[in-house]
Amino acid sequence: MYKTDRLSRGGGPGYAPLVDAIEAAGGDPNRFILADNSWVAEFELSIRAAMDREASALTAARMADVRGREAAAGKPRPGIARGYGYERDCVSLIDDEAARIKEAASRVLDGESVYSVAQDWNRQGVPSTGGGQWSTHVLRKLLRQPRIAGLREHHGVVVAVGQWPAIISVDEHERLLAVTAARRHGRKKAPRTYPLVGFLRCGRCGTNLRSLGREGGKRSYACRSGEEDGCGGLRIKAEWVEDAVRDYVVGVLTDPLLVDRLVAALPLPDDSTQRDALEQLRQLELRRDRITDLLVDGSISKADAKRKRLEVDDAEAVLQRTLADKPASRTLTNLPSTAHGMLAAWNERGIDYQRSLINLMIDQITIHPAGAVRRSFDPDRLSWSLRV
Ligand SMILES: [Zn+2]
Repeated sequence: MYKTDRLSRGGGPGYAPLVDAIEAAGGDPNRFILADNSWVAEFELSIRAAMDREASALTAARMADVRGREAAAGKPRPGIARGYGYERDCVSLIDDEAARIKEAASRVLDGESVYSVAQDWNRQGVPSTGGGQWSTHVLRKLLRQPRIAGLREHHGVVVAVGQWPAIISVDEHERLLAVTAARRHGRKKAPRTYPLVGFLRCGRCGTNLRSLGREGGKRSYACRSGEEDGCGGLRIKAEWVEDAVRDYVVGVLTDPLLVDRLVAALPLPDDSTQRDALEQLRQLELRRDRITDLLVDGSISKADAKRKRLEVDDAEAVLQRTLADKPASRTLTNLPSTAHGMLAAWNERGIDYQRSLINLMIDQITIHPAGAVRRSFDPDRLSWSLRV
């Protein structure tokens, strides 16, 4: 044997079974282990085991200290795998990847789902770090990493500003954490299929039109009587009005003059509202922890805890909207520049994205009753009330 510490990993228990085995085989434990051309007696072996163990504990502590100091100084810690956006040194940016991270961050903050961005990237053939496809899980994990905001983590806690360039801002990082967290433990909602709910008014009685699905996939918006106060006397084919709205929105957004006018008309972004929302989200996290504490204590029942957690979930969902709805001006500055690109984005990015664009420019549309022509779309049935 060339080093006793090979025998003493784990201290006493590391070598004791060996001594037992030597004795069981009829050997002499004092004349059985040879190191450096001399016998290692059982007594010496036990002392060496204790010393080696002590030394390795010291080394580990010293390593932890060095790592801790490095972390506090914001030094990068290159791992085995390269992190997306940076070279192996964790410091040099890979421009294409950094641009992709920025793009994904702003799309998700604009209300698009991580899933939809991952799908889009796979369609475009954007390779992930390993060269493979993007999964929602991988992209979501990437977007939640502090390192892309230039923050140094140690044992899962951000301890310093890192000595490398940030790809997104700390503010964006925090909002991404908030937005993607809610989608994680939020209950799944049925995907919406009626982008114009809330934008359409009945031309007879003035109430909001509701979605009306029919067998065979025939969708329409209708004035409904019953629980709502509608007259129940108006309906319009969903595609007609949805296509008209799409053409209008895409038309406006591909005209640079109109976009400028739209941007000028937007209310200034209100940072304090966002900061309040973030603070309230943090408070909700604390409340969630307290509920768990109370449950563990036995101070509240399981049913109580469940009810309280649902309250927190709901409050969180409301705050999510505040955070996601806010950056309207950025939605407008990140638009595809061609009508073709704009149309593709409209179709691919989903209803939440469509609604955020519609909301920028349309206050409401009043739908008038159908005239003599019922089989085809009559644009005169729509009265537009526009924001700009
Ligand atoms: Zn009506």
